[in-house]
Amino acid sequence: MREPVLNIESVSHWYSQDNLILDAIDLDIYKGERFALIGPSGCGKSTLLRLIAGLEKPKEGIIRIRNEIVSDSNKMIPPEKRNLGLVVQEKALFPHMTVRENITFGIRKTKKRNNIAFDLLKLFKIEALKDKFPHEISGGEQQRVALARSMAREPNLLMLDEPFNALDQDLKAELYLEISRIFSEKKVTLLLVTHDIDEASILTQKQVNLVELRKPSNERNSFSK
Ligand code: ADP
Ligand code: MG
Repeated sequence: MREPVLNIESVSHWYSQDNLILDAIDLDIYKGERFALIGPSGCGKSTLLRLIAGLEKPKEGIIRIRNEIVSDSNKMIPPEKRNLGLVVQEKALFPHMTVRENITFGIRKTKKRNNIAFDLLKLFKIEALKDKFPHEISGGEQQRVALARSMAREPNLLMLDEPFNALDQDLKAELYLEISRIFSEKKVTLLLVTHDIDEASILTQKQVNLVELRKPSNERNSFSK
């Protein structure tokens, strides 16, 4: 039977008791699937990604990655043990490292590091930038490097949180086509968060509004309101 890479079961979260952000969310993402989560600003998209990444513990519910519980009421696997990729809008590259060093950061074996660097620099067409530092390249190039880095460890699931917001329209159109090719070539399992429906439909096969993921009330057993 096909098992989901990510399984979210009745996850609820709030920062203060009187303000429920995520209300009994259910979501499955299967291997190789490219999924977009859309929804208005403030509806909890980034919060959900932070819960999946393990940067935050859900108040209720269970999160499984490849059938293993990573978060529930008494278990919390740390982010670095989940093997997930997360790319956000804000600049996230290490400023004192070259493009190449950024991409292969944390990969210890020299041969593996060289192979990964070669492969990803070529895939993202950034070979010419490999010895440059982040401040020496453009915003669009920096986002390519951030994407390349997030794929270097072949994560179970790649999560992108509105990663192209800061880029101008022409640059985006070109980047979408390229990374869409890369994602299908590498069979990336993707969870993209965006408020841009065009972006979602180019990069993913399935688009769902976060507010529609709420578990129907007749199937709920906790947090009844
Ligand atoms: P989205 O990504 O969909 O725009 P967020 O997940 O960032 O939404 O935020 C959802 C809601 O939770 C917002 O009302 C936001 O102000 C609130 N929020 C997010 N992070 C925190 C936090 N660390 N502490 C308190 N409130 C937060
Ligand atoms: Mg957000």
